[in-house]
Amino acid sequence: MTPFDTFLMVDWSGGNDRGPTPCADAIWAGVARGGRSEEPVYLRNRQVAEDWIASFLREERDAGRRVFAGFDFPFGYPKGFCRALTGEDDPLGLWGWFEAHVEDAPDRNNRFDLAARINLAHGGKGPFWANALRRDIDGLPRNMTGYVNPFPKKRLAEEKATGAFTCWQLAGAGAVGSQILMGLPVLERLRHRFGAAVWPFEPLKTDIAFVEIWPSLTLDKAPDNMIRDAWQVSETARMVSLVPPDTLAKMLAVDASEEGWIFGLGFEDDLKTAAALPPLLTNSCFALPPGVQWTPVAEALEHLRRNLAPVTAIRNVPVAQATGLVTAAAVQAARSNPPLPNTAVDGYGFAGGRPDGVHRLPLSASRAAAGDAPGRLGAGEAMRVLTGAALPEGVDTVVLQEDVVVADGHISFRGPVKTGANTRRAGEDVTSGDTAVAAGVRIGAPEAALLAATGVRTVQVHDPLRVAVVSTGEELVEQGDVARDGQIFDANRPMLLEMVARLGHVPLDMGRVPDDRAALKQRFDEAALRADVILTSGGASAGDEDHVSALLDETGTMTLWRIAVKPGRPLALGLWQQKPVFGLPGNPVAALVCALVFARPAMAVLAGETWSDPQGFDVPAAFSKNKKPGRSEYLRARIRNGAAEVFPSEGSGRISGLAWADGLVELPMEAMDITPGTPVRYIPFGSFGL
Ligand code: AMP
Ligand code: MG
Repeated sequence: MTPFDTFLMVDWSGGNDRGPTPCADAIWAGVARGGRSEEPVYLRNRQVAEDWIASFLREERDAGRRVFAGFDFPFGYPKGFCRALTGEDDPLGLWGWFEAHVEDAPDRNNRFDLAARINLAHGGKGPFWANALRRDIDGLPRNMTGYVNPFPKKRLAEEKATGAFTCWQLAGAGAVGSQILMGLPVLERLRHRFGAAVWPFEPLKTDIAFVEIWPSLTLDKAPDNMIRDAWQVSETARMVSLVPPDTLAKMLAVDASEEGWIFGLGFEDDLKTAAALPPLLTNSCFALPPGVQWTPVAEALEHLRRNLAPVTAIRNVPVAQATGLVTAAAVQAARSNPPLPNTAVDGYGFAGGRPDGVHRLPLSASRAAAGDAPGRLGAGEAMRVLTGAALPEGVDTVVLQEDVVVADGHISFRGPVKTGANTRRAGEDVTSGDTAVAAGVRIGAPEAALLAATGVRTVQVHDPLRVAVVSTGEELVEQGDVARDGQIFDANRPMLLEMVARLGHVPLDMGRVPDDRAALKQRFDEAALRADVILTSGGASAGDEDHVSALLDETGTMTLWRIAVKPGRPLALGLWQQKPVFGLPGNPVAALVCALVFARPAMAVLAGETWSDPQGFDVPAAFSKNKKPGRSEYLRARIRNGAAEVFPSEGSGRISGLAWADGLVELPMEAMDITPGTPVRYIPFGSFGL
């Protein structure tokens, strides 16, 4: 079964019409897809709600989207009640019973009388209680006086969910009793109309699933300016839409055939983890404008830049664990650097502003070294100071020890000496509160130093991007194994795994797959579970054995990128279970070039890094070439004697050329007549992050 596409969450109400102005205690619906929620919908009464839900479900069904529809009231009653009422243990029979007996209109309904009738059949003192009407009803206690409940007070789920209310109370704060009575008939009609499956009573093999939810399980206080019910449904929808499909399957694997269950109970941490995830990519994120035959490189890159977003979760980590990770927010300096004025040299400190001529100052007995708390200097004196020492009070200037003569407890030196000479001002590097490191930066050695120096303790970072690398091709054998005639060693996988690691991501070796659709599908499924991105090589064109593109095509999210670039056959880009897939060409040279030019910046964005174009340099060519117009070209190149040499063969299977090169020469779309000395753009592998 495909995972759910759309998540609808409904906060129900057992009361009457709430009027036209959006308010609390009405019915609210929240919708989310892939971690993006829509504006919550206000539904003033149950009749309006039933119509709205029906048209919503119809639209989703017609669009081919699978719907998870959550409702915030119990789908069943404590053990025994169902049989007592209907003669069977099937809770859906109970739904039918209520549908047949509940009368409902915007301004009045029979819920209290119906509850009293049920009570009277069981001794007339329970299980239902509380009455919001002015008139007394025979058999319905208003409060606990004289109340006797022949059934358990709560379902097992309510026993486990702290704060959950019993389903017997029909009125008063937090009571859900009326919501069930008035909600089940609506769901009963809708489930028949749409063939919806009801969780956990039926297998969820349909396009619409009805699921019992309780938003307060993980959501507490709404933001100040929002109605709590409205916020809860939209936030629940967003959160559940972000739960990974395998986790969702586990959460739904519940055995509670009579009483039902609260979705997510026991999985609160998974829900909270999901809530912190960024939205999923949209299905069209790789869709290039239709009709364009050969897309220029710059346009393809611009498309990636605009349509991709970080996919990794964000967490706060101690600064020492942040190195190598990408900042998710700007980091503020907690301390100035330097924190206090200090001396930049070994020498003698004094009060500055000494004019021309010889100066002689008595030398203080104290000394200031790095690490000493700032001391104090008598007026007119000088003090021995060592590099890094905080300036003592009374010192604002330092003279180099090489420029000083020490004798008879005095120092002498020649002026002029400007005030502040040889000292560092407090905060001259970074002031406390300034941005030390911007968001979207991978913390390398320099940033690690800066964060440490500025006293930062914790940093918001993205989880590392996990990149699955898969090779495809019937002809491939593992390096180190024996290759039969007709077989070749898998060269792309070790290459791409190393590239991924160098770029700062986490490589996941997902092995080789023969040219077999079913095997590839299974490997994609595994990769989608373990990784954030899938890199494949081979099988990306449109031929008989090009299973990567064929398989991705089935998802409806794939675009075959025909880019005006050499080397580079088509790239197959798409989503597999929401995970972006880069189907690279099989030729190792084309695979590496396409990975560096397209997958590298794309993965950086997915990992939370800001977009970066590789830094190239114009250098004189050491070669001749008559370049034709119409596509960009990347040549394997290296710098010798200040000029760019290129590998003698442009053959795309020549792996030796990759190892020979230190970078690429990038030639533009236009025609070029290159002779030795013509400036060409050279991009070192280092600029790509290799
Ligand atoms: P394909 O894109 O699958 O049509 O492959 C194009 C060329 O690249 C063929 O000659 C393949 O044998 C070769 N090739 C594909 N995958 C690899 C790999 N992992 N290592 C080395 N060569 C490969
Ligand atoms: Mg192949």
